Amino acid sequence: MVQLTLGTKRTALALYGVLLVLPTLVLGGLHWRQLVIDHETMLAVVPSDAQDATRRLRDAIKSSLKELVEREEARPFYEYRAAYFPPGNIGGEVNFLPSPLKVGPTPRGILGWFSYTAGDTTTGRLPRVILGSRQSGAKEEEIKNAITYAALDIQRSETRMGTMPSLFSRLFNTRDDSLTLPVLALNLADENDQGCVADELPVLRRLQHEKRPIYLSKFLLHFYRETDGTPRLVASREVTIDGDTRLSSASLCLAKLRSNVLIRQGFLIDPNWLFRELPAAKAASVLRLSQQFVPMDATADPLAANLESFSIHPVRDLGFSTKDPRNEVYGEIKVAVNVKELESRFRTQSVRFLGVAAMLIVSLATGLILLLRSVNRDLEAARRTENFVAAVTHELRTPVSAIKLYGEMLQDGWVDDPDKLKEYYRRIVRETGRLETLVENVLEKSQLGQRGTAPEPDDLNAVVESLASSLSSLAPDGVLDIAFEYGDDLPLVMLIPEGVRSIVSNLVENARKYARVPTDDPNAEPLLVKTHMLAGNVVLDVMDRGPGIPHSERTKIFDAFYRIGNEKTRTARGTGLGLHLVALQSAAMGARVAVLDRKGGGSVFRITFETARQG
Ligand code: ADP
Repeated sequence: MVQLTLGTKRTALALYGVLLVLPTLVLGGLHWRQLVIDHETMLAVVPSDAQDATRRLRDAIKSSLKELVEREEARPFYEYRAAYFPPGNIGGEVNFLPSPLKVGPTPRGILGWFSYTAGDTTTGRLPRVILGSRQSGAKEEEIKNAITYAALDIQRSETRMGTMPSLFSRLFNTRDDSLTLPVLALNLADENDQGCVADELPVLRRLQHEKRPIYLSKFLLHFYRETDGTPRLVASREVTIDGDTRLSSASLCLAKLRSNVLIRQGFLIDPNWLFRELPAAKAASVLRLSQQFVPMDATADPLAANLESFSIHPVRDLGFSTKDPRNEVYGEIKVAVNVKELESRFRTQSVRFLGVAAMLIVSLATGLILLLRSVNRDLEAARRTENFVAAVTHELRTPVSAIKLYGEMLQDGWVDDPDKLKEYYRRIVRETGRLETLVENVLEKSQLGQRGTAPEPDDLNAVVESLASSLSSLAPDGVLDIAFEYGDDLPLVMLIPEGVRSIVSNLVENARKYARVPTDDPNAEPLLVKTHMLAGNVVLDVMDRGPGIPHSERTKIFDAFYRIGNEKTRTARGTGLGLHLVALQSAAMGARVAVLDRKGGGSVFRITFETARQG
């Protein structure tokens, strides 16, 4: 039996482990590992990702700037004035159109345009400044001054260095926008000198098929800071037009083209746009969660301070020339690695995983407990059935062999003594009675499950009294070992007389088996069957002075076929059905059964009945 118990338990546990615990652990472990690996991989790629993102951000800023510059590059040189003469034939009169720079909106990123002719000796001639139709109010004057200053600065440095940009421009990076001689001459004339231009119409018309090349250089970008530190971004290009002697006779207003002309024109880029607005806007679309945009002049971010970061230096990276090398690093913006989001995401995932793991552990533990309980229950049932089979076999074999023995002895005429004959007959009857009880017990149990006799109000004392004499007569060795005590004025209780009889006989029979009253001691206390009121209920007690029932066995003894101890070591005969029948009969009457310690030693089997309702 022990072997069976251990083996079955081990098999059940092994199956549980292999089929449920092991796969759960393996899957859980793999999932956790994947979680950690993913997190580490993500952390590992964060810096290179950030580096990539920095490159992308720089490229995005660069392409926006390039777009702006290319748009300006496509602009014909003659638009850099208040009014211009569009290419085409010259009719009866000369009509100048207002320049789109003057009347159109200033594009985002541009503060204004400038243009001047190199070597223009006209006294006090300042560079032409065009601001477009922007609505910037008070700032307008400041911007105008800045543009003038920038243009003059270029002019000054050119004079100082004595460069020959015309030659340089013509060789490299130039574009040829040929125009007819009159269109060129008109666009170089002073727009205010319309009268003079009108006088020259015949000359111009005559020359209107003469094409002249114009060389336009690319825009060069330059960065510098004013003495008060204000940043300035200038884009400038050169326009060179070769002089033409055919105009030597024309009046002064068209005379510029007599010799080579060099025009310097350009525009001022808005530093606030390039250093702040553009990077911030691009960062919003280019950077990811794990990358943080640190704008120019950002006050030290405590988070960014600990993190790796990658810089963009717009001046240097976007191709601005600068005289002061310190200016190369002006306007630095950064992309910092921000692992906070990743860490918090990992934390959330871990908490979620641990939650699921905890739930699984609870489920597995509950499953294990339920499994063990069920295995124990099944093993217990198997043990009881085994005990029952052993007990019934034993119970059957003993009386059957006794009856057979006595019957054979009588049949063979071995016994002559009339006393002995009587004794043998008595024994045969007793053993037959025992067999009958056994069969009845088994029958009673099987019938109790089906029968549906309802309890009725009855007098408990009367039912017990009707049993008293037969119970007394069954005393072993013919010595009276039982006493009855009846409570006075007991109310009627709900009972089935047959059930009460079965209960009392079983309990008394048990007491006689397991708590036998010693016949050799005249002072020995008899078994006591007592009815009385207790806490408002009618109870029936069967008391003995036997060994009592250990606490650990008290719930089990009422189970079917349960017997205390081991079948091999037990001396008293039985099938483990007696107390089970007591419990079943009690339940059928709505009564409760309990076993208690008796004061002074022994047990009390107590049946508490339901009092019958009045009326
Ligand atoms: P059985 O008598 O056939 O073994 P029961 O269901 O009547 O089965 O009793 C269950 C067990 O309870 C018995 O094996 C016995 O060990 C124990 N028992 C029953 N009555 C008493 C008692 N009065 N005193 C001590 N032990 C008892």
